[in-house]
Amino acid sequence: MSDLRRSIPSVDALLADDRAVRWSASFGRDEVKRVLREVIADQRVRATSGRSVPDPTAILETTGVRLREQAVPGLRRVLNGTGVVLHTNLGRAPLASAALEALEPVAGGYSNLEFDLATGRRGSRYAHCSDLVRRLTGSEAALVVNNNAAAVSLVVNELALDREVIVSRGELVEIGGSFRIPEIIARSGGDLVEVGTTNRTRIEDYRRAIGPKTGLILKVHPSNYRIRGFVEDVSLAELTALSRREGVPVANDLGSGLLLSDLLPLPAEPGPKEAAAAGADVVTWSGDKLLGGPQAGIIHGSTEIVSRLRGNPLLRAFRVDKLTLAALEATMRLYTNPAAAAERIPAVAMLREPAGSVRARAEAGLAFCSSEVREALDIRPMHSVVGGGAYPEVTLESAGWCAVGRRPDSLESRCRAATPPLIGRIEDDLFCVDFRTIRPGEEKEVARVVSEAWEVP
Ligand SMILES: *Cc1c(COP(=O)(O)O)cnc(C)c1O
Repeated sequence: MSDLRRSIPSVDALLADDRAVRWSASFGRDEVKRVLREVIADQRVRATSGRSVPDPTAILETTGVRLREQAVPGLRRVLNGTGVVLHTNLGRAPLASAALEALEPVAGGYSNLEFDLATGRRGSRYAHCSDLVRRLTGSEAALVVNNNAAAVSLVVNELALDREVIVSRGELVEIGGSFRIPEIIARSGGDLVEVGTTNRTRIEDYRRAIGPKTGLILKVHPSNYRIRGFVEDVSLAELTALSRREGVPVANDLGSGLLLSDLLPLPAEPGPKEAAAAGADVVTWSGDKLLGGPQAGIIHGSTEIVSRLRGNPLLRAFRVDKLTLAALEATMRLYTNPAAAAERIPAVAMLREPAGSVRARAEAGLAFCSSEVREALDIRPMHSVVGGGAYPEVTLESAGWCAVGRRPDSLESRCRAATPPLIGRIEDDLFCVDFRTIRPGEEKEVARVVSEAWEVP
């Protein structure tokens, strides 16, 4: 045994090997040394138990594999075959080319992030995007923060610190497990006052709840659920009329914020513009939901309230990054021309794509598969969903591949382990790939991943 262990070559001898020299140049000598030591330690254990004879070639090969595995980025692109367009776990909205182009120079160089080019003095990062948000929503003033959760928290903290926040019991939303309206209000320093019932809330309920300690009335879009049947809720216009009489501000958390209501084949809902027109003092929504931009929290409303928000110390903790501002400005600019928004914002284009066109792409993708795989793939109608907690009851007619003749779970896990990973879904005990969320141009890659996964016995 000890002879075998002694026959393991030294790290220094292995480092002198041609391959190790090449790896050192790309990964760094210390890193190669560290992995060699790891592999040698494994070999030593195997040699001790008499399972194998240490061999320099095997050590070097294993080291090469490990170094390459470690070099794969942790965060990477995946192919979304789930049919969920704004998939929060898959990064929500893919950015438009215009947004990517705007990112690059700002990310790779210096920028006027907080520098006023007109005066040569210090400027404000919050000036960027503000004009566009104001123009697109018809609001007096605007502010962008890190995400919508931060936006809601900032609004509550500024307008209702140690004061009461009135919310309908029908609107106490939980989004994605960690964002819960009651908890956000409490952590932001407000005291939640629930009014009405789960299914019915009337203006009278709000009126009775208003008192000397009231700081804010908060109306929350129910996003990911709907209450059906014997229901009644209070419109934003009624609330703003009440708030004027009582002198209490109204905030409207829209969640998704559909900027142009006729842009998407979805039931019309009041969006940011309508909320501003109805007189909400402040409106908040996400940049990476139906807008199709980067993660951001968009805030707009009266000049008085937005300037108060700008002075809140928490804003520093919620402040938006220059990369976000660059991507958001470019995305928003597309909305000034609805035809451009429809075509060039990927999330919008995906939601608009007719089922026939999705089906045609699924069919075209088959051509890239091996004939055996092609035989086993059925093109079937499917239903995509919006995702991002928006329009929970809407399904979009779609189409895609269903794999017949392979266990769905093993096919699913092999596709998930591929490069790039393909995330599909299992439906009717078949592994399925919904082509609505496979981007035009990705069909060939999807075909390769599925074909390779198929060949593994
Ligand atoms: C999604 C959502 C949020 C949270 O927005 P993020 O941008 O994910 O922080 C808050 N409120 C509502 C109603 C939402 O739908």
